[in-house]
Amino acid sequence: MVKQLFVSLYNWLLPSKCLLCSNIDIFTNGIFCTDCFAKVTIIEEPICNKCGKLFTIGMPINALCTECESNKTSKLFNQARALFLYDNVTQKIVLSIKKNANDKVANACSRLLFYKYIELFNNIDFIVPVPSHWLRTLYRGFNPADIIAKELSIVSGIKVNRSLRRIRYTAYQHKKSKSERLKNLNNAFSCNNMSLCNKNVLLVDDVFSTGATLNECTKELLNNGVKLVNCLTIASTAADYYNIRKTSV
Ligand SMILES: [Zn+2]
Ligand SMILES: [Zn+2]
Repeated sequence: MVKQLFVSLYNWLLPSKCLLCSNIDIFTNGIFCTDCFAKVTIIEEPICNKCGKLFTIGMPINALCTECESNKTSKLFNQARALFLYDNVTQKIVLSIKKNANDKVANACSRLLFYKYIELFNNIDFIVPVPSHWLRTLYRGFNPADIIAKELSIVSGIKVNRSLRRIRYTAYQHKKSKSERLKNLNNAFSCNNMSLCNKNVLLVDDVFSTGATLNECTKELLNNGVKLVNCLTIASTAADYYNIRKTSV
């Protein structure tokens, strides 16, 4: 039912070919063809109330995942949310944005993110993309988070602010352990711009896995006077759920 509503909304917004296999499907005629749509996990409750990760078992409303529960003080953002569960299928969606700067996919996903989490845009002053180092942007030709931020800006009417910068060239994170990721990102970001002072910010990236990048960016933003940070990503990994207690953010 939720999926059907999702498809209807999408078709109304942006009819196009299947984002995964490029088929034009008679039934969905939109974001995914019937076959691909059956393989995609759209994140719905039950989710962690803080980081938005999907629980793969039943959980009470407002539950926190193990990570958020045990690191209440270290997760600095207000709330994070994502569109898809990050798996072998949705990895293709992320890669099509990340490697090919696929605006069409970024556009579709960004619109879905906006309508799905419209309440996270309330009172937001700026959309801030997680920055890539200028050398990597030069090599790749673009910053994937920036593409998503631009699309979210178009659909929401909220301006993109690029004062957060990556000042240290860091190795790719995906093969590193959690502690290595944190070390790798130490002092990697800088934000010295009064334009964000006392503002609410929506921080945007492609994937949320350990949250180390979003957290480091949030830390730097808060250190520079930002009032509140919400995070949105195209996909996020599943939540851990040991020692869950019913609680709220
Ligand atoms: Zn397909
Ligand atoms: Zn969590």
